[in-house]
Amino acid sequence: MYGHQNVARLPAALPQFLERGEGCHIWDVDGNEYVDFMCSYGPIVLGHRHAAVEAAAEDQRRRADCQNGPGAVMVELAEKLVSVVDHADWALFAKNGTDATTTCVTVARATTQRRKVLVAEGAYHGAAPWCTPITNGTTPEDRVHLLHYRFNDLKSAIAAAESAGDDVAAIVVSPFKHDARFDQELVDPVFAAGLRELCDDLGAALILDDVRCGFRLALGGSWEPIGVKPDLSAWSKAIANGYPLAAVLGNDRFRPGAEGIFVTGSFWFSAVPMAASIATIDSLARESAVATMERAGQRLRDGIAAQAAAHGLTVNQTGPVQMPFMTFEADHDYRLASHWTEIAARHGAYFHPMHNWFLSAAHTDADIDRALEATEAAFASVATIA
Ligand SMILES: *Cc1c(COP(=O)(O)O)cnc(C)c1O
Repeated sequence: MYGHQNVARLPAALPQFLERGEGCHIWDVDGNEYVDFMCSYGPIVLGHRHAAVEAAAEDQRRRADCQNGPGAVMVELAEKLVSVVDHADWALFAKNGTDATTTCVTVARATTQRRKVLVAEGAYHGAAPWCTPITNGTTPEDRVHLLHYRFNDLKSAIAAAESAGDDVAAIVVSPFKHDARFDQELVDPVFAAGLRELCDDLGAALILDDVRCGFRLALGGSWEPIGVKPDLSAWSKAIANGYPLAAVLGNDRFRPGAEGIFVTGSFWFSAVPMAASIATIDSLARESAVATMERAGQRLRDGIAAQAAAHGLTVNQTGPVQMPFMTFEADHDYRLASHWTEIAARHGAYFHPMHNWFLSAAHTDADIDRALEATEAAFASVATIA
C-alpha cells in the first residue's frame, strides 16, 4: 500500500479494504459498518451510490465511455462549470488533482513566460515531483523555481515575490489552510484580496487549489463567498461524486496560454465521469447540498463539544463544519486523537486522527446522532488515558 490510504500508519481499527457504500454508510470486507466521515478523502459529496449520479453514469456507459474523441458531455460539462463557477471562462479536463494543479502552473508559465511559483509552506498541491511533500526520489532541480510564503501572511507573500524579481508566473493558494496534522485555519479575506492585488501588480496568475474544497464550501468556487476571483482554479475530488475526473478552470486572459500547451492522458476524455459530474452539479444545486452539509456538520461539532466538555477534555475543533478537524489539547504525538479514532471506529464511526474529515449531503440528523454514540464511547475511553 502507498500514499495516504495506507492504514499501517493509522489506528488499528481502521480497515484497509472496503466492500460497499450506501449514502454515508460504508462496510469493510469483514462486514463491519461505519458512518463515513472521510467520504473517500473528499470525492463523495452527495453520498455513496447517489441515485441521480449513478443513473447518469449508467446511461452514458450504455452508449460509450473511452473513445477516439470526447463525447458531447465534455462540452455540456464545460458550459455548466463556466456558468456555475464565477471566475471561469473555459474548462479543461483531466483525471486527478495533481493533473489539475500541475496544469494550472503550466498554463501560468506559458501565459506569462516566467518561471517562479509561490506556494504556502506546508500546503499540499499533489504528488508530482514539483509539489510532493516527501521529496525522496525527486531532485532539488524539480523545485528550484518554487518560493514559499505563509498562509494568511500577505507580507511574506510580498517578500517572496520581491525575491523573484520580474520572474513570478503564479501564486498558488488553497481556499483555507487545510494542512494535515495542524489545526485548520480559515482564510482572512484581506489576505485573499491582497494576493489578488499582488498578482495583478505582478501580472502573475492567482491559482486557487480548490481540489479538496471545491463544491463543499460553495457552488461557485470556494472563494466566491469572499468575492476574490482567481485566474485559474484546480478541481477534482468532489466534482463527479467519486468518478475519476479533474478540471482546470480559467479566465480569458489565460485562454491562449491554455491553448498553447500540450497536456493529455489516456483516460482524460472518458465520457462516463463527465456525465456523472453534470449530474453531481445538478444534484448539489437541487439538494442545497452545501447548506445540508453545514447543518449536519454543525450538529456534529456541537455534539462533540458537549461530549468533550462533559468528560473534562479540551478539544480544538477547526475548519469549516463540513470539512472539520479536531485535536486534543497538547496532544502533539496524536496519542489521544489516535485512541479516540480507534474507539470511534470500533463503535461504527470512521474518522481520522490527523487529516480533516469530510461530510456529505447524505449525512442526516439520525446519522450524526448515531455517530455521536460512537464518539461518546471514544471520549469516555480517552478520559481514562488522558
Ligand atoms: C488531494 C489534493 C490534491 C491532489 O489531488 P489527487 O487527485 O490526489 O492528485 C491537490 N491539492 C489538494 C488541496 C488536495 O487536497
